[in-house]
Amino acid sequence: MTKAIRIAVVIAALIAGLTLAAQRNSNVTPKESPFSEERAGVHLQTIVGVGPRPAGSEAITKTRNYILAELKKIGLKPELDEFDARTPRGMKHMVNIRALRQGAKPSLIVISGHYDTKLFENIRFVGASDGGSSAAWLLEFARATENLKLENTLEFLFFDGEEAVVDWTDEDSVYGSRHDVERRMRGKSLADIKALILVDMIGDKNLNIKREIQSTRWLKDIIWGTAQALGYRNEFPNDEIEISDDHVPYLKAGVPSVDLIDFDYPAWHTAADTLDKVSAHSLKIVGDVIYSSLPAIDRH
Ligand SMILES: [Zn+2]
Repeated sequence: MTKAIRIAVVIAALIAGLTLAAQRNSNVTPKESPFSEERAGVHLQTIVGVGPRPAGSEAITKTRNYILAELKKIGLKPELDEFDARTPRGMKHMVNIRALRQGAKPSLIVISGHYDTKLFENIRFVGASDGGSSAAWLLEFARATENLKLENTLEFLFFDGEEAVVDWTDEDSVYGSRHDVERRMRGKSLADIKALILVDMIGDKNLNIKREIQSTRWLKDIIWGTAQALGYRNEFPNDEIEISDDHVPYLKAGVPSVDLIDFDYPAWHTAADTLDKVSAHSLKIVGDVIYSSLPAIDRH
């Protein structure tokens, strides 16, 4: 290496360093949030370790007891919302779980996901991403917001009965979210929800969350804008996809709602949706993005 080249290399390194520093300073939102990849990973392993967890099963009761115990451990006071749903296989007892983190105002930002898995009789379906990832993420996200100061109150909402009991139709799907919307409508409290954020199938190692078409525009703009500012352009691309999920009953009722779902997942609804296909790091990415998006959603 000649002296001239060496100087050029040093100058280039210096410029690269300065550019990096400038980029760091221009980042208003910190990349790291208190969301712990490790804790989320423990929840994921524990929940998936329960085995298949369809609505009405003993296994989902066991899962629910774990969720309740973990929410109590972090000082929250979870409430059960129990109901009986008419399904193509008769009445099934289902239970949504709710916990509040009080803000300055009673109006709500609801953060939600389902904790049931789809019923299969011919395969052992443990739903690592589909049902496991959302429940594990929501548990750790509830803890991570401990010191987050917001105007609005946060509600963590775990849905039962997201999956169809037989085949997906408007009547045979999203039992928990439909019940929740009806309950709030009866109690005239649906308008208390300022925004609903839904996560589903966010565990994929190769994370790819597209903008869900029906979801509310301003929520998507905040979340995808935040993700891209944090450097997660590949994980949160601007491509679009249309998915029916637990956010639809809220959208139909006029509640601003967004679904974060990685549907580009070959193991979807197969016996291969197992722990080796998912990663706690993907949960951490979604945790950082939503955590950093909340102040803007709170102010909107
Ligand atoms: Zn599913």
